[in-house]
Amino acid sequence: NRRVILKEYVEGYPREEHMELLRGAEVPLRLTGTEPAGSVLVRNLYLSCDPYMRPKMSRPLRESYTAAFVPGDAITGYGVARVLDSSDPRLAPGDLVWGITGWEDYSVVTPPVTKFLAKISHHGGGGVPLSYYTGILGMPGLTAYVGFHEICAPKKGETVFVSAASGAVGQLVGQFARLAGCHVVGSAGSKEKVELLKTKFGFHDAFNYKEEPDLGAALKRCFPDGIDIYFENVGGAMLDAVLLNMRVHGRIAVCGLISQYNLADGEKDAVRNLGAVIAKRLRLQGFIEPDHKHLYPQYEAWVLPYIRDGTLAYVEDVAEGLESASKALIGLFHGRNVGKQLVRVADD
Ligand code: NDP
Repeated sequence: NRRVILKEYVEGYPREEHMELLRGAEVPLRLTGTEPAGSVLVRNLYLSCDPYMRPKMSRPLRESYTAAFVPGDAITGYGVARVLDSSDPRLAPGDLVWGITGWEDYSVVTPPVTKFLAKISHHGGGGVPLSYYTGILGMPGLTAYVGFHEICAPKKGETVFVSAASGAVGQLVGQFARLAGCHVVGSAGSKEKVELLKTKFGFHDAFNYKEEPDLGAALKRCFPDGIDIYFENVGGAMLDAVLLNMRVHGRIAVCGLISQYNLADGEKDAVRNLGAVIAKRLRLQGFIEPDHKHLYPQYEAWVLPYIRDGTLAYVEDVAEGLESASKALIGLFHGRNVGKQLVRVADD
């Protein structure tokens, strides 16, 4: 059973030497009977690379909504797996599940299993790849849905700006905004990604923030009358530029601040234009997906027909093999992924 461990806590940008692929003992393909009653043994098929995993690699210094990884232990994260053996009556060998699993070939998930894993019932028809449960049908999908529809409360005709717009969450927010009848513009970090936004995801306009000497001017060009809704994925200089371009009574959903995740406290960007929140009577609201899990069935029922009839596109960036997992995760912080980054560990 190969597994990827965190070797040591990370300061600054994560590097491959912070993680290690260990080859462990052969695992029996059945539970041994020594596990807690209700445990499940799974074969991991797909693992998800998510930006929130970076803060979990830091030495725990303060309260956080998610616990730090433990050096020496397998990294944990979202994934898709097949049940090989189960002492939980709700799951049987052969069942497909998604949820929290380990960065390893096989994982034993201990009770309460249903807190970590959900059974997949919609696979095997209508063009729904199993890997989508790391993205559009998984945590990033619910994040986009909750963040846009619940937190931003969009109205038809409003203007929407999305940063990190070609990524796992951003590509969905853009398409949800278009479906809601909004005018949507995205930013991304390469020419290829900007093209994807305009041609594949139906953004009305897009720009490469790395090639804009003045972010405020780029936003002014795209939103001459201002922004009603900002879906914040990056923070830093982009947030400051957006604040000055918001319309009165605008809403900002703070989903993530990826530009800040690898910076030490003293290096983090200050937000200089917070005064705009008062002057423009803005609502700025952070949210985390785990608080909204109860909306998943509603979201899944809403999104599946759009996937099946091709209304929604979803672009994935698939790294092959557990040995490529650490590099794939690191790539998120350098914009190497084009679309949702995931790792294929074994065939469906
Ligand atoms: P993505 O698939 O968008 O991958 C990360 C992307 O971020 C990179 O491809 C890169 O794109 C961009 N990026 C990296 N570094 C920087 C930087 N310094 N400045 C600007 N952009 C940068 O990731 P996700 O869609 O999974 O996540 C997007 C955001 O949503 C993250 O901030 C994440 O933490 C947050 N999130 C929050 C959740 C919640 O519950 N609140 C749940 C899930 C995600 P580019 O080439 O365009 O720069």
